[in-house]
Parts: sequence; C-alpha cells; structure tokens
Amino acid sequence: MNLNKALSAVFAIIIATTLVIAYAHAVPHMASAVIITYISTMVFLTICLSISAWLFRKFRSSLDVSDMAGIWENINNEMIMWTDDFSSVYMNRKMRNLLNIETTDFDHKLEVMRAFGISGTENDDIQKIIDSASHEAYFTDANNSTAIIAWSTSLVKRKKHVSLYLSVGFNLTELKKVKRDLAGNNELFNYSMKLAEIGIIMSGDMNNFIVSSETVRMLGLSTGCINLKQFRSLVHPNDRLQFDSALKFSTDSTGNEIQSIELRIKSSDGFYHWYSYRYKPINSSGNTIPMFGSALIDNTKEHEKDLIIERLAYIDEVTEIANRNKLMDIGQETYEQCQLLKCSYWIMVLDIDRFHIINDSCGYKNGNYILKNFAGIMYKFITPSGLASRMSGDNFALIIRDYGDDDLPLRTAKAIQEEFAKLAKGDFSSVNLSCSVGYAKMPEDGSSFIEVLEHAEFALKSGGGNHSTVCGYEARMHDSIIGRNELEKELALAIDNNELQLFYQPKIDLSTGKVMGVEALIRWIKSDGTVVRPDAFVPVAESSHLIGRISEFVLNEGCRQNKLWQKMGYPEIVMSINFTSTDFYQKDLKEKVFEALAKTGLDSKWLEVELTETLALSDIDYAVAQMNKLRELGVKLAMDDFGTGYSSLSYLQILPITLLKLDRSFIIDIEHDNIAYEIVSSVIRIAKSKKIETIAEGIENPNQEDILRKAGCDFGQGYLYGKPMPAQQLEKFFDKNIKEHNQNKFSNGGI
Ligand code: C2E
Ligand code: MG
Ligand code: MG
Repeated sequence: MNLNKALSAVFAIIIATTLVIAYAHAVPHMASAVIITYISTMVFLTICLSISAWLFRKFRSSLDVSDMAGIWENINNEMIMWTDDFSSVYMNRKMRNLLNIETTDFDHKLEVMRAFGISGTENDDIQKIIDSASHEAYFTDANNSTAIIAWSTSLVKRKKHVSLYLSVGFNLTELKKVKRDLAGNNELFNYSMKLAEIGIIMSGDMNNFIVSSETVRMLGLSTGCINLKQFRSLVHPNDRLQFDSALKFSTDSTGNEIQSIELRIKSSDGFYHWYSYRYKPINSSGNTIPMFGSALIDNTKEHEKDLIIERLAYIDEVTEIANRNKLMDIGQETYEQCQLLKCSYWIMVLDIDRFHIINDSCGYKNGNYILKNFAGIMYKFITPSGLASRMSGDNFALIIRDYGDDDLPLRTAKAIQEEFAKLAKGDFSSVNLSCSVGYAKMPEDGSSFIEVLEHAEFALKSGGGNHSTVCGYEARMHDSIIGRNELEKELALAIDNNELQLFYQPKIDLSTGKVMGVEALIRWIKSDGTVVRPDAFVPVAESSHLIGRISEFVLNEGCRQNKLWQKMGYPEIVMSINFTSTDFYQKDLKEKVFEALAKTGLDSKWLEVELTETLALSDIDYAVAQMNKLRELGVKLAMDDFGTGYSSLSYLQILPITLLKLDRSFIIDIEHDNIAYEIVSSVIRIAKSKKIETIAEGIENPNQEDILRKAGCDFGQGYLYGKPMPAQQLEKFFDKNIKEHNQNKFSNGGI
C-alpha cells in the first residue's frame, strides 16, 4: 500500500472516530452502544484488510519474475516479462542495454511504454500488443537512433485480475535498414529504366522470364513473371524465328558479347512495336545458376523513319513487295538461321511466261497491273518469316518455310499458276497467263543464299521456262548449267568477234527443179575453225537475251546478202530467216524488219520469216497481230516444222501464212509409211485449198522427191539438193543449177 492510500485511510479513521465521539456526546444515553459498535466495526475491518493484504502478497509473490532472470539474462534476443499492472517488469540484459537501463530499479511503466513504442498503458494499448502476432515497436535506443523491434507476446500466467506476459523481441533495425536501402536501389533502378525506357528481362531456366516493371508497362503485362510461350506469342510471327535463334544462342553460347536484334512485339496499346532486343547469356560463376538477360528498347519511331528509307531502298515501286535488295538481306539472314536452328526453307524463282507479249500487246500500264496482281497472288503463299519479292522485270522470288514436305514447292507453284491463269479475263482475255518456276532448298542446295538462289534460277532455265514449267534443282544439273554459263560468256564474245556467219540451204521448185529460195541458217565458226550448229547455242542465246543481237544480225545479213545476189545478176529468190519467240513478239518487230529492208534496199516480197507452230500458238491473238504487221510490209510468212507441234489444220484458217513447211520427220517415213504419206498429202491438199504453198524439209533422196511432187508439194529442201553452205559456195550452186536447167536467162521466182 502506498503513502497516499495510508494517509487517506488514517484520515478516514480520524474523521470516523471524531464523528462517533461527537455523536456519543450529543446522545449520552446511546454513547456506550455507539462506541462499542464503532470499535467492533473497526476491528472487523482491520481483520479483513489484513487477510486481503496477506492474500494479495501471496499472489504477487507467485507472479514474481525476478527469479527467471538467470535463464533469460544471456539470451541473444530482447525479452520482457511483465505483468499487466506493471507491478513487476523484468527486461533481460539485451533489452536493458538497448534502452540504456543500468539498474534493476527503473520505472516499469515508462520503460515498458518505450519498449513497446506506445504512448499510454490503457487497456487498448496493452491489448494491441497482446493480440498482435508481431507488434512492431519503434523507439529511440541508447545511441539515440531509432530501434525497431518486432514483439511476439504470449500469456504465461493469469491470476485473478493480473496477467503475466512474456514478450520476445526480434530486432529488425538492421534488416529494415538493408531493406530500405534495397528498396531505394530498386526504386532507383526502376526509375532509371523508366527514364531510359528500357525493359529488362531475366531468365534462369529459359522457360520463365522475370521482367522489370518497365517491361510490364511497355508490353501491358499483368505480372512481372511471364513464361516463354506467352512471351513468344507476343513476338510478331515473322520475327519469331529470329527470337528463337536469340534464345538458342543464349543457351548454347559461351560468348560474352551482347547481341542485338530487331523484333516486333505486341505492346500495351495492342499494336506491334519495334524493339531493339539486346541479349546476352550470363554465365554461372561458382554456384550461381546460368542466366539469360535481355533488354528491350522501343525504337518504333526510329523504325518508322527507317521504314520510309527502307521503302525507298527495299520496296519495289510497281508491285509494292520487297525488291531484290530486301530479298538478298532476308535471304542471307534466313540462310544463317537455317544453319543455326537446323531448319530449312524453299526458295522459289518465278518467271511470267512471255511477259514481253503481255507488255507489248496490252500496254505498259496493263503490264504493271499484271505484275502487281502476280505479286499479290505470290504474297498469299508466304509462310511466317517468309518473303515475296520482285527481283527484276517479270522475275519474282518466294521464300517459304519447309516443314518436311518435298511436294510443297510444286504444289505452291501449281496453285500460283492456277490463280494467275484466272486473271486472263476482261482486257487480258486474249492473253495466256502462265508462269514458270524453278526452286531449290536452303541450306542444302548451296553454300550461301546467293548460291541457292542461283540454283533455283538454274532449275528454272533447265525446265525450259515459258511453258508453265516447274522444275526443282538437282545437283546433277549443276555441270550442264555451269557449261551453259560458260557457253553464254563465249557466245557473247563470239558475237563481238564476228564469229557468227550465215549459211544458206537452197529451196527447189519441185515442178521445175530450179532454186526458188534459200533458208539462212546460222553457224558459229570458232577461231580454230570448229563449226557450231544452231541447236547448240540458239537456246542458250534465247534464255540469256543474246538472241536479240543474233537475230538482228540474221535479219540484216540475210537481206544484205539477198540484195547483193540480185545486184550480182542472180535471179530474184526468197530469203527465209528463222525467228524465235523473243524476236517475233517484240513490239517494234515491224519497224525492225522495215528498217532492215530499207537499209539493204531489198524488196519485202523477197524476205520470208519462218515461225514454228509452238511459237505462233503460245499467244495466238498476239501472234496473228504480229503476223499481219509483217504481211502489211509484204513479207512472206512460213510455218516451220509443221506437224511437230499442235498440228491443228484449223490454225491454217486463222494464221496469215503464205508457206507451210512439212517437218522432216514426215518426209523420212513417207516412202514406207502409208500413214505418213496420207497425212502429208492431206495437209498439202488442205493448204492448197487455202492458197498456202507447201515445202517439204529434209528431202534426202529422189524417191522422196518424186512422192512429194506427185502429192502436189510445191517446193523441196534437203541434202538431196544441198546442205546449208556459205554464200560463195551457194553461188557455185546457183551456177550449176542454171547450167543443169539449161536456161540462159533468169526467170521470176527461180533460177
Ligand atoms: P529449221 O529452221 O527447221 O532448219 C532446218 C534444219 O534442218 C537445219 O538444221 C538444216 O541443216 C536441217 N536439214 C535440212 N535438210 C536436211 C536433210 O535433208 N537432212 C537432215 N538430217 N537435216 C536437214 P540447222 O541448220 O542445224 O538448224 C537447226 C535449227 O536451228 C533450225 O531448224 C532453226 O530452228 C534453228 N536455226 C537455224 N538458224 C537459225 C537462226 O538464224 N535463227 C534462229 N532463231 N534459229 C535458227
Ligand atoms: Mg527454219
Ligand atoms: Mg524446220
């Protein structure tokens, strides 16, 4: 009991006693009874209080905590044992040191309030500490610094209204400081990355990425953790191959260099943004896990600027698809990825058949329309990370992914051909729209992208082109292709060195035996005297555009030579020259022929152009138009090798030809094969009815000549009369022919 309470009690007793004495004086007859009652009450109260005090002391001693001090004193945690009336509080040494308490005699309540960081000891304050699993207390420690302790409090004993508690502290001061520093660093890091607009991606197992808050913001992610599959799905399909390569590099590589690629990644606004994706494997050191780190920098704006430049540099103006430059870049990249990822791609080279005809007959604008549409058709067949490109003129290339199906390029080519053919309507209804395709596989078919592309082009040429051909590259083609290239180079030189020469084969009028014309047949006389026949070099010339120079020479030289013979006094005869499809379908064909005639002074009726059936029928309307132009000039037209191609006599109705040349294959069999004879004689009959003259090629013996003459054939050509020979030799032939027919003067149309 404290002094105040004792004084209050004494004061209360004095007052009570004074009142009893005063009452006894006032009422004397009751005085003895009052005093006896008063004394008895006081004795009773004294006894009760003594018992209570005894009982209370006994209880208090059972809650006394000081005897536990020995156990807790040296424990390395802060500890407080306290009664909730604060009559007894024990703090172990660690806690005392922290609060700078030097004696055991301290203000219990005050120090408990400090230790628990509370400002009062009302029931609520105490209850909070007791209820909380971890009560964090902040207070100023002995060093005047803020200490932070997390208290865990448990009830040890409860007696009547007093409870004993044990609070064990966990000092968080250092931890919080580190955490604060870390948070500060992290915040600084995030802030820096935000300022620099750099997203960071880290991965330990390659399947799960941990991304920085800036990456979350950039890509509009919901969490800072994303798995590889989810991340890959955000990458633009065309860039996924690159991304896979980067991942592969990161797992396989031990290199230390930072790599960088450009990727399109779907971003928070739902659109693809261009990112510079810089990555690097983080090799394990000691017991750390190998990691993969990458940084994302949004450079969409730069890309937009680049796009304009790229458009100029990499996009074909007419078709708006990639041009050759782009093809070369993407092709090489794809080739390298094929090697790295062990995958393969097809490269298909497509060429529109007889495009010059379309251009010439339908006009430049329509030609562009066809090119654009062709590009659009091709575009439909691109697979992810593939490319459609226009290389030049009517040459296109398509890169498509190979999924192990060797028929894919053939199927794709056929599908493109089918779609393309459907364009032949309206303005183009008279044009035969087709394309030829060559293809090769990378990386197998070449040691670089350019080589694979060349091989696809070789395959295109080997297929013949111009007739809807589709041809895959095979290694064995290589030798002949190399030979072909060499031949091409040699031929170009031969033209420059005037090694080309015309030989002439006489044509005989079967009814008179007189020479009525000659066919100009080209020969390549090499410097060592070797004579190369046209079959060996004309097709090469045709596919390499050398044919234009050759045909120009044939046309001019043929006209010049014929005019010269006329000037020399030889009878006027017809000079026949051979035209290829390329020559014949030139837009300025008429002008060129006209020029040659004008330049040499040869009358057009002494010039004849030989065309093959296949050539004429590849685009019949345009062919007829071209033929009519030549006919307008007065030039004669012969259908060469009749019977080897489509052989439809109905074409005789349509084509404005003046002469039909029966192919040598019929003539060979005519003596012994009735069917051959029947065909030949019917063709002659029909031709006659159409006012078309006939000539038989390859007559080698008099019997053949006899049969043909009887069948009504007008003229003959073949070794029986003479092989193709140089001009001077032919002049001797003329002389001999004149002598044999005993004629003194030349008659019109023959010698
Ligand atoms: P072509 O126009 O059908 O020429 C006829 C070919 O048959 C010539 O072969 C000629 O030498 C050959 N020939 C003629 N009579 C006989 C015979 O009785 N027996 C045999 N076995 N062959 C005979 P050449 O000169 O080798 O010409 C081959 C082809 O080359 C020509 O076929 C023609 O398509 C083409 N050609 C020739 N010169 C030129 C040319 O200047 N320009 C173009 N574009 N093609 C040409
Ligand atoms: Mg011919
Ligand atoms: Mg012929």
